Amino acid sequence: MKNKIVKFGISLILLINLFSCDFRKKDTAENTQTPTQPAPVSTAPAFNPDSAYQYVAKQVSFGPRVPNSAEHRTGGDYLIQKLKSLGATVQVQEFESTTFDGKRLKLRNIIGSYNPAVTNRILLASHWDTRPFADKDETNPATPADGANDGASGVGILLEIGRTLQNAQQNPGVGIDIIFFDGEDWGNPNGDPEGQDSWCLGSQYWATHKHQANYTAKFGILLDMVGAHGAKFAQEGFSQEYAPQVVTQIWKTAHQIGYSDYFIYTQNGGITDDHKYMTQAGVPSIDIIDYDPTSPDGTFGKYHHRHTDNMSIIDKNTLKAVGQTVLQVIYNQEAV
Ligand SMILES: [Zn+2]
Repeated sequence: MKNKIVKFGISLILLINLFSCDFRKKDTAENTQTPTQPAPVSTAPAFNPDSAYQYVAKQVSFGPRVPNSAEHRTGGDYLIQKLKSLGATVQVQEFESTTFDGKRLKLRNIIGSYNPAVTNRILLASHWDTRPFADKDETNPATPADGANDGASGVGILLEIGRTLQNAQQNPGVGIDIIFFDGEDWGNPNGDPEGQDSWCLGSQYWATHKHQANYTAKFGILLDMVGAHGAKFAQEGFSQEYAPQVVTQIWKTAHQIGYSDYFIYTQNGGITDDHKYMTQAGVPSIDIIDYDPTSPDGTFGKYHHRHTDNMSIIDKNTLKAVGQTVLQVIYNQEAV
């Protein structure tokens, strides 16, 4: 993801709207405030960042997971087997999609469910594919990067959440679905014609072919580029539009458990990402995504779509901050 430059004009307008909406909402809330019971909170089990790191490294060890490559096939097979071994009920969606540059891709969305019989559900997602070219790289833009952060970091955290749920003494009381979307990162760097989106092929497919008829979840959390050293997660514009209460919950939880250095109260513009299609599918969703205003594009990390996106930038402290926060949000949900 994503051609932020093209979206930038929209983002600024969106931000202005967001600010004005926000103030209105605050006014209303203050005027109509009634005493409410605090949400029941149980402490989540500990998220193990060493294990999450190993899951990231394992994906990178296969090579870039570029669709239609042998590395992509092997990497996907690994994720299916690993999710099964972690106790999830696994479904695989196989489909084909055509890229902006005319390639026909064989893709797989991989879905793992915990507590599948529970109706009150939360959806967690990340993309698992690697962009076919590191097209922002100054010296070698034609070949793919390792995608340690862009792809593998989110998947690594979600695998570790799966492992934690498998071993947890206390059930969180909600059902959890983990989706690894394919084909997120083959988008057109020059922007798409109006009404088309060459990014997010897997989530676009899933939005119209859900893994279960009438599937729904209370909300969704997308993780994208969540493992870099010194990462900052700003509140992304479309997340604020799609699911503002979820943004509030996650940032508040992160601050309560000590991760305010990572989850910052800064507004970022809207970024087209898989959460758009999760929301269109009926699951209001937000994006936790690394934000660096000092990078050349003003938003994404300096490693973004460059060969520096390798294991050297992955930091266990960042994996811990994100993984523990998401787990705590899960355990804060009221069991229904
Ligand atoms: Zn990307």
